[in-house]
Amino acid sequence: MKKLGFDTMAIHGDVPKKDVHNAIKYPIYAGTAFSFESAEAIENAFSYKVPAHTYSRVTNPTVEVFERKMTLLEQGSGAVAFASGMAAITSTLLNLVKQGDNIVASNALFGNTVSLLKNTLKNLGLDTRFVDICDPDAIESAIDENTRAVFFETIANPKMSVPDIAKIVDISHKRKVAVVVDSTLTTPCLLKGKEIGADVVVHSSTKFISGGGTGIGGVVVDLGNFDWSDYASLEKHKDLGQLAFLTRLRKEIHRNMGACMAPQLAYMYSLGLETLSLRVEKACENTLNVARYLRDNKKVEDVNYPGLSSSVFHELAKKQFGNRFGSVLVFKLADKETCFRFLNHLKIIKRATNLGDNTSLIIHPASTIFREFVPEKREIMGAGEGVVRLSVGIENVEDLTGDIQQALDKI
Ligand SMILES: *Cc1c(COP(=O)(O)O)cnc(C)c1O
Repeated sequence: MKKLGFDTMAIHGDVPKKDVHNAIKYPIYAGTAFSFESAEAIENAFSYKVPAHTYSRVTNPTVEVFERKMTLLEQGSGAVAFASGMAAITSTLLNLVKQGDNIVASNALFGNTVSLLKNTLKNLGLDTRFVDICDPDAIESAIDENTRAVFFETIANPKMSVPDIAKIVDISHKRKVAVVVDSTLTTPCLLKGKEIGADVVVHSSTKFISGGGTGIGGVVVDLGNFDWSDYASLEKHKDLGQLAFLTRLRKEIHRNMGACMAPQLAYMYSLGLETLSLRVEKACENTLNVARYLRDNKKVEDVNYPGLSSSVFHELAKKQFGNRFGSVLVFKLADKETCFRFLNHLKIIKRATNLGDNTSLIIHPASTIFREFVPEKREIMGAGEGVVRLSVGIENVEDLTGDIQQALDKI
């Protein structure tokens, strides 16, 4: 059969076992354990001879349906769902390293990811080399024989920088290092990770995938581009070659750390995926319109969005993400006080720290999500005192620009 289109796969998925009632929406299996006909049958399940769900922390039918849909949409070889985006990132990195190993990471990352690398994993002996991920020489010289991953985000915010992923893949693969991409802001709609040559993609499904801010979750997809046989951390599963990463992730890291996705959430996410491309298209279109609107307003000092030709990343983003640029933009007002006045006058756009929601959300990063960093570091990360981050939703765009206008008029 001809390969199905993205939206058809997002709706139909790849359901391994038909529901007994032929329910069109695959049901929520909320319970903990699954019973077996015989002691032999449960032995076969535990020895993986016969695939079966035994206990919902390990695998669960509703979660599996979501994982299979993500595998299809990313064209990967398999996926594992987690309780949050942070759990997905932590588990991916722990799966790849042993003591003495290091990773090379972008110096523009989600705040909690920076803290994970700088504090939590650092304390366990994992060395992270932070580099300007848009500088190929910096990546090249940071990689050594103990580097196990190059890790970055497809569009970093609030910096709004876009790395050249194909170039990073080239550099990393020459040194046999895996490329791990946080594609939360781009989703499988904008980034075709498999085609561009990335190895592992992680998502905070809390964002776009959730279908509108319905709950916290994350997912890891192995894109099947990497042969893991040389990885010391995956040595026990060496014989599985390309499946070694997923096998240890599933059977050891995910199972033992216990940060599993709730079936209720997996149901919401499978539903969210059905409309993912519609929502992403509308949000991207709205964001471009809002960006142009802000650019033309005198009270706004600067607008940073890869969709505007003023962004140095415009041409690269255009090519890499199929002429769409995501739903997050940042802009600059005079100072912190002006930002606060502006935020406080908004009536439709909500003051909140999330993105990829159906609802437009706004935040002042320096005083909130980036407050644990010193001011100089914030500047480097694009979170200066006068910067506001806006995640544009799928409302009618004239209502959003109207809300922005009335608030700007009052500052
Ligand atoms: C939100 C976010 C995360 C963390 O995800 P949670 O689901 O909140 O744990 C990681 N990376 C990026 C780019 C994010 O936006």
